Formats: sequence, structure tokens, C-alpha cells
Amino acid sequence: GLKKKEVHVLCLGLDNSGKTTIINKLKPSNAQTQDIVPTIGFSIEKFKTSSKCCLVFSWFCLCSCLDIKHRRLPILFFANKMDLRDAVSSVKVSQLLSLENIKDKPWHICASDALKGEGLQEGVDWLQGM
Ligand code: GDP
Repeated sequence: GLKKKEVHVLCLGLDNSGKTTIINKLKPSNAQTQDIVPTIGFSIEKFKTSSKCCLVFSWFCLCSCLDIKHRRLPILFFANKMDLRDAVSSVKVSQLLSLENIKDKPWHICASDALKGEGLQEGVDWLQGM
């Protein structure tokens, strides 16, 4: 919750889905990199967001978040690349992933465009309120 100084975030998703770009955009502007290189294996990054210190793990393989059974961890989904012409809406994504079946964890889905940084803050604000 908001009282915590440090939050550990596990970032999961398909290769090329935009994980590195999203994490880069969430960094303070002076810590952002211009050249994003593909993540091999995993990377661990630590940086301060506007209100607290955040530890971010970026993992490059797809694991199902829904298989994480331990504790009542909040799950934030980014329906990224919403700028692409054939992008499906966040509502459609949540239907395709049957997110309404997640009853034991708080979850939230945001459409995002990580290149422009759109939709990211909304997601982080939700996460920080957990
Ligand atoms: P990762 O493998 O999940 O870490 O994906 P990357 O962050 O390396 O992004 C893969 C590619 O998708 C890069 O060429 C990014 O520039 C591009 N990309 C990331 N986010 C977006 C987005 O919201 N819109 C579009 N059009 N491209 C994106």
C-alpha cells in the first residue's frame, strides 16, 4: 500500500510486447534510456517513482500471471500497443483472457501506448493504491 517505501513488481509478458519500453517510461526522465535493447533472461531495475521507491523485475518469457497462487497480489494488465490499427480494446482483452474469473486478487487493465507513455500512469496509480 501507500505506506510502503519499496514495492516489488514482477513484469511478465510475451516477447516484444513492450515490457522494457513500459518500465523505461516509468523511470524518472533523467534515467530513461533512448536505446532499448532486448532483455535476455531477466533484468532487475530499481528506481524511484513520484511517490515511492519501486523495484521492477522485467522477465522476458511468458508465464501466466494467473498461475501465481501465493497471497492476494494485485495484478495490473497493460493492453499495450493500443496505437496499432488492429489493436483490440482493453475490454476485449479482458474478455479474451477471462479476467472476470479472477476473484481472489484485485486486478485492473489499462490500454497503453508505451511509446508515448499513455495509459501507464493510470496503471501505476492503481497499483500504488493497493
Ligand atoms: P519486450 O520484449 O516486452 O521488453 O518489448 P520491448 O519493450 O523491447 O518492445 C518491443 C518493440 O515494441 C519495440 O520496437 C518497441 O518500440 C515497440 N513498442 C513498445 N510499446 C509499444 C507501443 O505501445 N506501441 C507501439 N506501436 N510499439 C511499441
